[in-house]
This record gives sequence, C-alpha cells and structure tokens, in this order.
Amino acid sequence: MLQPQEALGKVLDSVRTVKPEQVPLADACCLVPAQDVKATEAYPFFSNSSMDGYAVRRDDLESASPETPVTLPLAGEVRAAPGESLELPPGKTIRIMTGGVLPGGADAVVRREDVEEKPEEVVFYKLPAAGSYINRCGEEISAGMVLWPAGRQINPTVLGLLSTMGFDRVTVFPPPEISIITTGDELVAAGKPRAEGQIYDSISPILVSCLEHAGVSNSRVLMAGDDPEGLTRTIRARLEESDIVITVGGVSVGDYDLVMRSMEELGVERVFWKVMQKPGKPLFFGRRGKKLVFGLPGNPASALVCYLLYVLPAIRKMMGFEEAGPCWSKGRLAKSVSNNDSRTCFARGIFSRETDEGFRLETTVGQSSYMLSSFAAANALIELPPGPITLDAGQRVNFMQLPWV
Ligand code: AMP
Ligand code: MG
Repeated sequence: MLQPQEALGKVLDSVRTVKPEQVPLADACCLVPAQDVKATEAYPFFSNSSMDGYAVRRDDLESASPETPVTLPLAGEVRAAPGESLELPPGKTIRIMTGGVLPGGADAVVRREDVEEKPEEVVFYKLPAAGSYINRCGEEISAGMVLWPAGRQINPTVLGLLSTMGFDRVTVFPPPEISIITTGDELVAAGKPRAEGQIYDSISPILVSCLEHAGVSNSRVLMAGDDPEGLTRTIRARLEESDIVITVGGVSVGDYDLVMRSMEELGVERVFWKVMQKPGKPLFFGRRGKKLVFGLPGNPASALVCYLLYVLPAIRKMMGFEEAGPCWSKGRLAKSVSNNDSRTCFARGIFSRETDEGFRLETTVGQSSYMLSSFAAANALIELPPGPITLDAGQRVNFMQLPWV
C-alpha cells in the first residue's frame, strides 16, 4: 500500500495539462496563462499629470517664493483627451487636468490649490521639485516586461493590469471537463422523499462546489446506484466526455467488485488502489489514455480528504498551476492528540494565529469518516504521523488550510 506522498507523486506524474485556449479576458479570472504575458509597449504610454494644475518649466520659477511670487501668462489648456501634445513656450504655463498629456518642455506640474489663478495668468509661490505631479512615460512598465507569468493564477487585478495594456484576450489553460458519478442504492438527492434505509447524497454537493471553487464550473453529476452494468455504462459515457471522472463509493473492500469491475471492463489502467491514510484508505486512481479516474470512498469525510489531497492537486496541475499543492505549513498542537492507527491520519481541525508561536492547531470534535459537522467546523487538515503515537501539546505537525477558508 502506498504512503500518501507516493500516491500524490503517482497522481501528479499522470497529469498532462489541458490544451491552452485563447479566451476573452472576462473569462480568464482564476485561470492560469499558458505563456508569460508581456507588455508590448511602455506604460504610462505618455507622460501625464497626476493632478489638476499647471505645467511649468522649472527654470521659470527659480526665484519663486511666498515673498517673491512669479507670474506666468497662460498659454493654453490640456484635458485628458485624445489630441496632439502641446509645446510649453519658455516663460509661460499651460493649465493641465489629471491624465492630460504633459506639454513638451514642461518638467513639473504645480497643483491648482498651490497657485493663484487670474484670468490670463497664474501666480506661483515656490519652485516645484523636478518631475512633481508627473506620471512619467514608462515609469511603471517597460516594453517587453512580463506583466503576468505563466503558471500563476489570474486574479481580478490582473484582469485590470492586462486591460490597462490593451489586452482583451489571453491564452490560458481552460478548466478540465469533470464528471462525478455517485454509486449506492441507498442514496437519494436532497429534497426528494427518503425511505427507511436511505440517506441523502451529501458528497456531490460538496464536490460540485469544491470544483467551482477550483475554477471548474461545469462539472456534471450522475447517480449510478449499485448496478454494475449501469455503472459501467455511465462511466463509459462520462469517460468519452470528460478529462477526469470521479466516482464516489463502491471502492471499499465490502463492494470491491463494483467500481473495480467497471474499471477493468473499461480498460482503465489501475495506478493504485488504497493509500496508507485515514480517512480515505480505499482511494482508487486509474487512467485511460490522458483521462484520469478517481474512485473516492463513499464516506463523506473520506471522499473530501481524498479530493483535497489528490484530486485538487491533479486539477491544478492540469490547469497549469506552477504550485499544484497541497501546501503544508507547520503548527503546534494545542492539546495532546493520539493516532492509534498505523496509517497517517488527516484530522479535521482548526488553525489559529498565535502571537509569537506561529500557528496553534486543534482537532474538531467527531472524526468518524461519515461525520461532516467536524469538517464544516474546520479550517484545516492536520497531518498526524502513523501510529500508534501520542503527540504532546506543543508538538509541531503539518497542516494544510482548507481551500475555501
Ligand atoms: P461505500 O464506499 O459505497 O461503501 O460507502 C461508504 C459509506 O458512505 C456508506 O455508508 C454509504 O452509504 C456512504 N455514502 C456513499 N456515497 C455517499 C454519498 N454520495 N453521500 C453520502 N454518503 C455516501
Ligand atoms: Mg456503496
């Protein structure tokens, strides 16, 4: 049986990025560019005023002071608008609005509130610093500069940055097509009548929402029941349409045959089945060509742990993320915790910031794999090394922040 780290390695080794696509900028948020996005010109495109004021040549204001003000005649006005740039004649000033093109020859702008405005002339009381209130051409971005690197997720401000530079499209890795197939005759969708012996499907709502959070907004859910032929038919159909198929349930020893038999029938190559972890030991991972298949165990907490540890990193790598994750940090246990199992335990817990001790970690109540309340209360997964072991309060262990907190 594989250790969690080995299992993650095998998953990531099987992942190929999806084919890059050029998409409208508005659709690119949260995706990752396939190549570095580079500036085609410098920015600001032209030197301009950062304030409403007056463009001047500093030479003309050498002697300006409150006691010896200098008056310059007005030679024109520039608004933030298209048009040829003006030339500032020596010994004169030009009124300029925020964003207006700096007139040729001007080397400073004096704010409106710092002068006295007369009908045809302006009185200055001090020599401005060189370049004051000027956004200089190219001071932020030079031509050829990487605006946003390949592999790093685009956020709303990046959309703004790329728009600033005139891009309306960007080449990204689109989200993969993902199908979720639940198994289990006992399952019924929330909102439907429930007979004795039935339970509501809680995993597909979690997965759909987790996938949305990861940038995959069009996942499909199918409920296959425990009928082997039906399950095989459903997986076959979804394999045609999807990059990743996630089945839920039917992989533990009791019903080993159900998902496994379908996988074998469909020629899905088994990469591994079972990982030395708790919860989530029965995880199956296979591939057919470039397509990936995850067989998650049916208990909700087990399914979610497997999603976080293996499925999400696979999706992130497929979507071109430089860091596929999961991202582990170190924290200190607030109380003594035991792991009586020989498998690594991924416990649901809460991390909080402590003033100088780094992170403080506490497990939430109710760690059985069917229990979701402890997951809902958690903001982290805490890794407890294989046991039997008792970790004292204050001991340092790994934890990962849950992606949605
Ligand atoms: P299985 O892996 O199919 O043996 O399922 C293990 C446990 O998880 C059983 O108690 C199932 O009823 C339960 N289970 C399976 N699928 C789901 C689901 N989609 N939502 C909630 N519980 C489930
Ligand atoms: Mg089942």
